[in-house]
Amino acid sequence: MAKYYQPEIETMPYEDLRKLQNERFLKQVRHVWDNVPYYRQKMEAKGVTIDDIQSLDDLHKLPFLKKDDLRDAYPYGLMGKPKSECVRIHSTSGTTGKRVVAFYTQHDVDLWEDCCARAIVAAGGSEEDVLHVAYGYGLFTGGMGLHGGGHKVGCLTLPMSSGNTDRQLQFMEDLGSTILCCTPSYALYLAESIKERGLEDKIHLKAGIFGAEAWSEDMRRDIEQKLGIKAYDIFGLTEISGPGVAFECEAQHGMHINEDHFIAEIIDPDTGEVLPEGSKGELVFTSLTKEAFPLLRYRTRDICVLTREKCSCGRTFVKMAKPMGRSDDMLIIRGVNVFPSQIETVLIQQGYAANYQIIVDRVNNTDTFEILVEMNPDMFSDSLAKITSAEKELVSELKSMLGIAAKVKLVAPKSITRSEGKAVRVIDKRKI
Ligand code: ADP
Ligand code: ZN
Repeated sequence: MAKYYQPEIETMPYEDLRKLQNERFLKQVRHVWDNVPYYRQKMEAKGVTIDDIQSLDDLHKLPFLKKDDLRDAYPYGLMGKPKSECVRIHSTSGTTGKRVVAFYTQHDVDLWEDCCARAIVAAGGSEEDVLHVAYGYGLFTGGMGLHGGGHKVGCLTLPMSSGNTDRQLQFMEDLGSTILCCTPSYALYLAESIKERGLEDKIHLKAGIFGAEAWSEDMRRDIEQKLGIKAYDIFGLTEISGPGVAFECEAQHGMHINEDHFIAEIIDPDTGEVLPEGSKGELVFTSLTKEAFPLLRYRTRDICVLTREKCSCGRTFVKMAKPMGRSDDMLIIRGVNVFPSQIETVLIQQGYAANYQIIVDRVNNTDTFEILVEMNPDMFSDSLAKITSAEKELVSELKSMLGIAAKVKLVAPKSITRSEGKAVRVIDKRKI
């Protein structure tokens, strides 16, 4: 296996890992205390000083950081190194409000790319592969992270960036791309385009590394079947470095968190209480090795579950389940909690691709709730009566899943705008 599978680290017994984390944690807290006045003040405000942090067992004493802190400290307030020692800036995609920025020294870029390299190797990648990177390049971390990881593994790396589907497919065919990296919604779009152009026999992909947005197990099966590949999940966020914070192995059952660089906790999002392993709650990360943007106890707002059991792949790093959406992804419609992932599950179970958009508005003090769903191409020629009856069926399936009625409209294939980056699933006009 390529050198970015590091068994001496990735299969380390838990006691040894904890020792390594402990050493790194104490160094990282000292670094923050000495160099990030914003966080030091937060610690002092909580009555905590560096002397109270003697080991990893004291982690819970540290204050949380939230996205609002990153906005308050924007742009340079959380930097741990002088600008002269930093080499890169990235920014979040701004899915949920104002973008925040993160900084990297060369060491930070290296550790991030090492994490992405591990993800590529775990998906079966090696120097024999042509790595087709169709995540956006630029401020977004997706493109450059997997690109750097591809170089480290020694893949022939193709920096396609997002967009221009014709050119994506042409290069995929001509250059024999074997591993595709992009958002799952774009993977599905590419799959549909391959089918439409009858290119199935000319594409030689074997695996895909998909992340940056939530996608269900059903969507995984759909992509795997349509592209004839194994589809691996990858997770990350700009604040913590980018993609590769966690990655899926051949077991395709949860993502291993790179615990030599990041400590994960699950907390109750309302009380901040740390929850035991196996509980569902908000994911919190503490970086252990970062220089330019070291974040302690950063609340991701992603809701998920952690489990620590030896994986069939041999890795001992804790696994995170697919995030069930963000705490702020949840819509409250007529008082009922609705997650877009529930809608996606129903659509796929009913044989639709996951191309949909939720539109919520408020008329006369009542929430309106409409879901646009693209019909499958073979339905397009169906009679109006047949389409109406398909809509009715969806209304009833959705109602039993969500406990609330939605208006459903089947629209023409490919009529919902695709973003080559992250899919825009929700238009909440109540907020405009
Ligand atoms: P933004 O918060 O503006 O979207 P990022 O581009 O840094 O900024 O995205 C990070 C977020 O993307 C994560 O916090 C998470 O909500 C989501 N995300 C990333 N990878 C995955 C994944 N594999 N599954 C589900 N959600 C993911
Ligand atoms: Zn594994």
